[in-house]
Amino acid sequence: MNIILLGPPGAGKGTQAKMLIEKYGIPQISTGDMLRAAVKAGTQLGLEAKKYMDKGELVPDEVVIGLVKERLQEPDCEKGFMLDGFPRTVAQAEVLDRELEAMGKSIDHVICIEVPNEELIARLTGRRTCKECGAGYHLKFDPPKVDNVCDKCGGELYQRDDDNEETVKARLKVYQEQTFPLIEYYDKQGKLRRIDGVGEIKTIFERITKVLG
Ligand SMILES: [Zn+2]
Repeated sequence: MNIILLGPPGAGKGTQAKMLIEKYGIPQISTGDMLRAAVKAGTQLGLEAKKYMDKGELVPDEVVIGLVKERLQEPDCEKGFMLDGFPRTVAQAEVLDRELEAMGKSIDHVICIEVPNEELIARLTGRRTCKECGAGYHLKFDPPKVDNVCDKCGGELYQRDDDNEETVKARLKVYQEQTFPLIEYYDKQGKLRRIDGVGEIKTIFERITKVLG
């Protein structure tokens, strides 16, 4: 089973990804992790990627695609794989389709976890972190016993800059603008599976597995 997982920040993609790879016994292929691993291992593509990462620039498509291609040829991908964070653009999706075809493979399902913006904003802006021990809380879903005080160490809680409402809204806008053409691309191929991402983790997981069969 070859899957692509899509979802905005705050949609619970990481949690669902973990549960999916366990259930289906397939590897999760995250381009972020792969880039870091290739740099660490000092492979040719890793060294190439490092040149851009050191300058704080985006790693070019051909390097990322090269890494994905190498990774997909490893034996643990024979039963299937789950791509996370790739492709990000239609251009990447087209190259991916061609590379997979050359390997005699194709994408089966593109899972898109959908959550209304207001809900995403509530989820993301409610996060709080302890200044002392780094413990995470959520004002609505996992509040501390005493307002603004860490249950574990008594430290003060704060909101990360990434989680303030303006930044969250900007992140969601970037995601939507980037992902919309990709969603259309896979929808046209009949591979898009829209999943309602509101509800309990277990319920959402059941919705996904029902679609995957
Ligand atoms: Zn603490």
